Amino acid sequence: MFRRKGFFEPLAAALTIAAAAFCATPRAQAQLPQPLVNESTLKKVSDHVYVLMGFPNIGIVVGSRATLVIDTGLGARNGATVVRVAQSLSKSPILYLTTTHFHPEHASGLQAFPPSTVLIRNTVQQEELEKLGPEMTDRFRNMSAQNKDLLQDVQLRPPDILFDRELNLDLGGVTARLFWLGASHTKGDELIFIAEDSVLLPGDIVQDKLIPNLSNDDASAKSWIADLDQLAPLQPKLIVPDHGALGDASLIAKERAFLVDLLDSALALKAQGKSADDAAQTIAAQFKTKYPDWAGNAVASDVHRIYTGPQ
Ligand SMILES: [Zn+2]
Repeated sequence: MFRRKGFFEPLAAALTIAAAAFCATPRAQAQLPQPLVNESTLKKVSDHVYVLMGFPNIGIVVGSRATLVIDTGLGARNGATVVRVAQSLSKSPILYLTTTHFHPEHASGLQAFPPSTVLIRNTVQQEELEKLGPEMTDRFRNMSAQNKDLLQDVQLRPPDILFDRELNLDLGGVTARLFWLGASHTKGDELIFIAEDSVLLPGDIVQDKLIPNLSNDDASAKSWIADLDQLAPLQPKLIVPDHGALGDASLIAKERAFLVDLLDSALALKAQGKSADDAAQTIAAQFKTKYPDWAGNAVASDVHRIYTGPQ
């Protein structure tokens, strides 16, 4: 299966299974319980950045002027845990919140945050959340009794700040760069770079051996690869993916190589006139052998999207 070294080894393995079952393959109707955000997983990863390891990994960036939380956890109960931890780390009452994409484990815990929290999101993600959020939340509700409970009363509100491409947030002694590069796992994936600490929080765009998932019709392998090319020059010392283990800049090239292989394989079979179903089956089997330690099973659905979507 898969093995991981380093950060929270047993926990990372357990959470990777959850990530594989849920975020990496949202089509799967798996019945595994959702891990809850847990304060005991908090880890300081750099001078200003803390991470709650879980489903998802949640970043907290602490400056002298304000604190930025990245993702809410699934539903209000997890959101409340995140708020508690963020407030215990904060040096100021000013709290910013942003979300890496609209999927429920990243965005549905908003209501637990104090009303004074400044919510920031890119425009494309906001549009996508309004269009696809309710259906995706229902899908997550139907995955397990625990999910249903966590998502019973989701209350969202419009962001206080919307940005198109990039926003630099001065937190006091540390600046967070929030940016959108283009479609990848979803259309509105947002990334956060903390230059002072050389830490990148890329959402689901860069992960360690989790099969990338083109999660809806607007997701794009081609654009995802272009996004990774723009990320590479950042050479982050540390990457904090939304799911699974943390890693270094080498994760970017690893993710890119997988996506290029997937895209090329699908387009080659399409050019040969193979049906999407045949191609999905063939490539899924090939990739199981080629990438035995990558978790998740999104390859077949990715091939379908490459056949029909914007690639
Ligand atoms: Zn996702």
